[in-house]
Amino acid sequence: MIISGKEIATDLKREMAVKVKELEAKYGRVPHLVVVLVGDDPGSVSYVTGKAKASEEIGVRNTTIRKPESMTEEELLSLIAELNADDTVDGILVQLPLPKHMDADKVIAAIDRSKDVDGFHPLNVASLWLKQPCLLPCTPKGIIKMLKTANVEIAGKRAVVIGRSNIVGLPVAKLLLDENATVTIAHSRTKDLASVTKEADILVVAIGRPKFVKADMIKPGAVVIDVGVNRDPDTGKLCGDVDFNACESIAGMITKVPGGVGPMTITMLMTNTIEAFETRMSR
Ligand code: NAP
Repeated sequence: MIISGKEIATDLKREMAVKVKELEAKYGRVPHLVVVLVGDDPGSVSYVTGKAKASEEIGVRNTTIRKPESMTEEELLSLIAELNADDTVDGILVQLPLPKHMDADKVIAAIDRSKDVDGFHPLNVASLWLKQPCLLPCTPKGIIKMLKTANVEIAGKRAVVIGRSNIVGLPVAKLLLDENATVTIAHSRTKDLASVTKEADILVVAIGRPKFVKADMIKPGAVVIDVGVNRDPDTGKLCGDVDFNACESIAGMITKVPGGVGPMTITMLMTNTIEAFETRMSR
């Protein structure tokens, strides 16, 4: 069975559109997301366009600020300070990657944590690990939401996450742990990876290597979540980290690329924007 992130995201966006109307009636304005894009990297332009489209679909106000690659870090920090101080802005997202002359960690840390709808601010990351209320990073949050919507039982299951990046692998592992799975994190130095992944009831793959996970790495009946976004070297088309055609018949449930985790990520950005708005307005 395929878990369609696209379909789940569509349903969630429909519910959110209703909620945004209710919030507008209650507070006199809709949530406002500001996306800052520095430079014109085609991948980033397409992500930013997707964010604007999702905002439009659910009625969230979206302002996309585009700045030239030549912008200095100081100028970006001063723009963030303005957005932090602006009471009509609920969410701020600085599209990554930033040009090389900027320190991304410094830039992210400059965003007011209550407006950090990407969930990358160090204080939001710390809160996640301390189990305190916070804005959760969108991709990990989307994966848990997708598993729950597909009625996958997480508690007591053995989960393996391949990848330990700050934005995907580590937070996914933490959220699975919080759902009472027993979690193993694998990475590039893991010896005999297949012997680890074959133990997994839930396998989350976030590596960034096209069709890396083969059928002999999966336990029959496992739930396989493919986070990877790659170009298939043979066809040039978008593909995941999992060899979907080879693994589909072995997995109990599996996500597809595109149409799996990606749509959930952007939908969780909308959820976070609404959450940030509600927190601000109820203060
Ligand atoms: P990353 O920072 O490059 O991390 C990759 C991880 O994979 C690292 O922890 C690395 O291990 C591990 N790895 C690499 N080669 C491996 C191998 N041969 N065996 C086992 N582990 C290996 O990547 P990321 O930012 O987490 O992103 C991962 C993928 O998810 C990318 O394709 C990215 O485009 C995609 N992504 C998708 C979404 C979405 O919304 N769908 C969101 C974010 C990212 P080490 O730590 O040992 O180096």
